Amino acid sequence: MTTKLLLTFAICRLIVTVGLTVDPSELLLLGVDGQLSVDPFEVETASLDFGLLTRVEPMAVLHPGSADDIARLVRAAYISSHGFTVSARGHGHSINGQAQTSNGVVIEMSGGSRGSRLGLRKLDKPQVSVKEKHVEVWGGELWIDVLRSTLEHGLAPKSWTDYLYLSVGGTLSNGGISGQAFNHGPQISNVYELDVVTGKGEILACSEEKNSDLFHAVLGGLGQFGIITRARIALEPAPQRVRWIRVLYSNFSTFTRDQEHLISLHGNPTSRKFDYVEGFVIVDEGLINNWRSSFFSPRNPVKISSIAGNGGVLYCLEITKNYDESTAGTIDQEVEALMKGLNFIPSSVFTTDLPYIDFLDRVHKAELKLRAKGLWEVPHPWLNLFVPKSRMADLDRGVFKGILGNNKTSGPILIYPMNKSKWDQRSSAVTPDEDVFYLVALLRSALDNGEETQSLEYLTNQNHKILRFCDDAGIKVKQYLPHYTTQEEWMDHFGDKWDQFYRRKMEFDPRHLLATGQRIFNPSFTSSSGTVSPW
Ligand code: FAD
Repeated sequence: MTTKLLLTFAICRLIVTVGLTVDPSELLLLGVDGQLSVDPFEVETASLDFGLLTRVEPMAVLHPGSADDIARLVRAAYISSHGFTVSARGHGHSINGQAQTSNGVVIEMSGGSRGSRLGLRKLDKPQVSVKEKHVEVWGGELWIDVLRSTLEHGLAPKSWTDYLYLSVGGTLSNGGISGQAFNHGPQISNVYELDVVTGKGEILACSEEKNSDLFHAVLGGLGQFGIITRARIALEPAPQRVRWIRVLYSNFSTFTRDQEHLISLHGNPTSRKFDYVEGFVIVDEGLINNWRSSFFSPRNPVKISSIAGNGGVLYCLEITKNYDESTAGTIDQEVEALMKGLNFIPSSVFTTDLPYIDFLDRVHKAELKLRAKGLWEVPHPWLNLFVPKSRMADLDRGVFKGILGNNKTSGPILIYPMNKSKWDQRSSAVTPDEDVFYLVALLRSALDNGEETQSLEYLTNQNHKILRFCDDAGIKVKQYLPHYTTQEEWMDHFGDKWDQFYRRKMEFDPRHLLATGQRIFNPSFTSSSGTVSPW
């Protein structure tokens, strides 16, 4: 009772002070099983994300107790005469405020600050079906917890992201990619079924067979069509160990030729292909300080200056081979056979061997180190591009050897190819028009260390320059985890898929209430001052 009074008071105060347009009774009458909160600390948490580039305060935060809570909230928003927006927030690892909303409620799908502080009941633990090789998970479950649950049964999902403290709903709303994508496709290609709360507040199960338009819309759908509350994810037998290898190249075309050769082996039997193919660019000696460099042991120092190529740029191919007791006897030969045809710098082979879970959870180790140094919670002006294979050499010349010059990098620059055939064209995800395309991910942190080239302003300008360069050179890139501010840019981004995207929006979220932080659609409700803008 006291909580309800406090909440009423807080919502009323918000309405008076900032002129919000919602009737508090609309929220209070919801009667949710979870908790609706206007606690300033929680509102502050929900107004920020990993990027630390934008800050948008929601009106309140919902910690759902069930999918029904989410449906009740969205339904209230849908039928509300004033209208308010609703944004699911996974783990808040977006860069540009994609999970934020003003004039609305943020749903903390993965617990948020309150969840972790108060140890709120976890929603439905992952349910593994060993027979069917799948796992049913809550939409806010973190991938690390999905992995831990499935490993108890000797199984694991097939397709990953490099970092596992991301939510299932969050990565399925984008794609979910890592070095396994060439082989298994992105995470959105490895889902059998979803439960989704649409923008009308209905809970619908969907799959290839049932409500298939909603299913395909939601996968890669940037949260525009519904909130994923449950996902059924494909599993495979989990390997026990991983042989993890890095080799260096000074020549870009040799590097990409080898990467493309390795991903072309996707149809081979397991023993005759790698399980993971990635790579990164080294534009300076930042490799040593790079957050992914924990791989290189002190006994194995990298003397970049002794092997630096033209323009001082090096490229690192990163590959892995999974194995277990039954294949431990042949792993050396398998790796050797696969590496035989590659043309890396012979003296630059770095190998390590570790348990599967340690490999998958590798970025978290780097996170802990950066946190200890106060370097994790800093602005992240990240830029992720999908680049058609045929234009990679131009990108190398113009960006890696051009715009990035000899700047010290304050974060990794990933570069790896994927096969378009592994992406279901019926999903909402957008990729370039070539059979093979690359992820080029500039994952840089802005540092306030007096070095101009690492400042937020400098890095942001550099990102603009890179996008302009691609535009001027006619390189038809697609942004991954896209960020645009006008509908024209979004139409351009979706290209042929825009009409379908728009039709699906009108069908599943006709009032445009959901995920307004993506800035694709304006909500269709009005206040006394006209149309309400969510950003
Ligand atoms: P949020 O940022 O909270 O949400 C992202 C969007 O999805 C928002 O629009 C939100 O409204 C919507 N959303 C969230 N939950 C749901 C739901 N249940 N239903 C419907 N919509 C929802 N991505 C890769 O693909 N590969 C990587 O290797 C990778 N590595 C990363 C490493 C780090 C350190 C970080 C910070 C990010 C990385 N990402 C990677 C990006 C990541 O996939 C995105 O940030 C993604 O948004 C997931 O983050 P999240 O779960 O915190 O979602």
